[in-house]
Amino acid sequence: DTQDIKILLLENINQSGRDILAAQGYQVEALKTSLPEDQLIEKIRQVHVIGIRSKTKLSESVLREAKNLIVVGCFCIGTNQVDLEYAARHGIAVFNSPFANSRSVAELVIAEIIVLARQLGDRSNELHRGTWNKVSNKCWEIRGKTLGIIGYGHIGSQLSVLAEAMGMSVIYYDVLNLMALGTAKQMPTLSALLNDADFVTCHVPEIPETKNMIGAAQFEQMKQGSYLINASRGTVVDIPALINASRSGKIAGAALDVYPSEPGGNGDYFTNELNPWAEDLRNLKNIILTPHIGGSTEEAQRAIGVEVGEALVRYVNSGVTLGSVNLPEINLRSLTMDEPNHARVIYIHHNVPGVLRKVNEILGDHNVDKQITDNKGDVAYLMADISNVNTGQIKEISDSLEALSSRIMTRILY
Ligand code: NAD
Repeated sequence: DTQDIKILLLENINQSGRDILAAQGYQVEALKTSLPEDQLIEKIRQVHVIGIRSKTKLSESVLREAKNLIVVGCFCIGTNQVDLEYAARHGIAVFNSPFANSRSVAELVIAEIIVLARQLGDRSNELHRGTWNKVSNKCWEIRGKTLGIIGYGHIGSQLSVLAEAMGMSVIYYDVLNLMALGTAKQMPTLSALLNDADFVTCHVPEIPETKNMIGAAQFEQMKQGSYLINASRGTVVDIPALINASRSGKIAGAALDVYPSEPGGNGDYFTNELNPWAEDLRNLKNIILTPHIGGSTEEAQRAIGVEVGEALVRYVNSGVTLGSVNLPEINLRSLTMDEPNHARVIYIHHNVPGVLRKVNEILGDHNVDKQITDNKGDVAYLMADISNVNTGQIKEISDSLEALSSRIMTRILY
């Protein structure tokens, strides 16, 4: 029953998410902060669902105590704070919200294009210090200029539409062949994009192939007096090479929202030995430096609350794992809850030979309407809808599945 589901939400999760869970009738306890490990362990033993953001570390030692836990909702982008593998091996699904802030990032980049083109950062800083410095030399409109988008995914493609609406021409480069929006044009190579763009903006994931993707050789290929924006991941741009390109005048400005090493909380930055280039970077002209705020808006927080809240409800009520970061993604048409004598069997198990034969022996006496199974590494997820079963038979099925050596977790929804 939904009233039996106990949920603990930590770190002041957005009201939008809390409302969605409360509306299901679940027992929701929401705290404003994260908890010290001993208190976290105490609480996590009781709950079926936990919602966290980036500060709560769900390590193996914490998850080991979470005997009733079936799912973790990360109301944020990253999932590094959770031991995903341990969770998967114990049948605990983990969800996050990777794309709810795409629009916020795209809007920030639009702002930065204009700020760089008009040298707004420098003018503002000068006047803050009391200097009136009115210039039009090398200040531009963005209308008619070419924006080069590297990575045409969720953010890159939204940006494409916004930029065209302001009269820019858009070109993009992506490892995939992707349909152009509006009149944007896909370029065959990164070099071709760098050769043609007045503004270059990076929207690729952090993977080995994108490490220092923009370095000395790439700045070389950019247009004289062009601009670089990076709001993707800090490893994508080689910062010393950026400093050289800015000093030589090759690039007329840059905006960085992300850095190779970022601090865990607000406060001093650029002071440690991990950023030996910090002083040089801060002294460049027409450089916007922001503390990874691309996705930091009220709207994005609300959207994250809705997306993760809905994913949790779907998982709890129907076992659907779409969007899970650590379990195979399984979907079946919705369970006909109101039909009597129906049940949905969910069997999370080790991916070893012969399991399906044994499972089907158990289910085989009943009418299996639909069945689906998939695996992710060592963990497999099976979902079957059966009809014409009574409560006693459901108990039998559950006990038989629980007795199999491949078992990680059995859930039966009816
Ligand atoms: P996405 O996965 O939707 O799109 C990434 C695109 O990059 C895909 O189309 C992919 O095919 C392409 N790609 C991958 N490798 C490539 C390569 N070597 N060369 C060219 N293209 C390549 O991702 P997204 O949601 O658009 O996010 C893009 C980046 O922005 C990610 O690094 C993400 O972490 C970052 N991000 C930053 C903030 C912020 O606050 N600054 C917020 C959200 C996302």
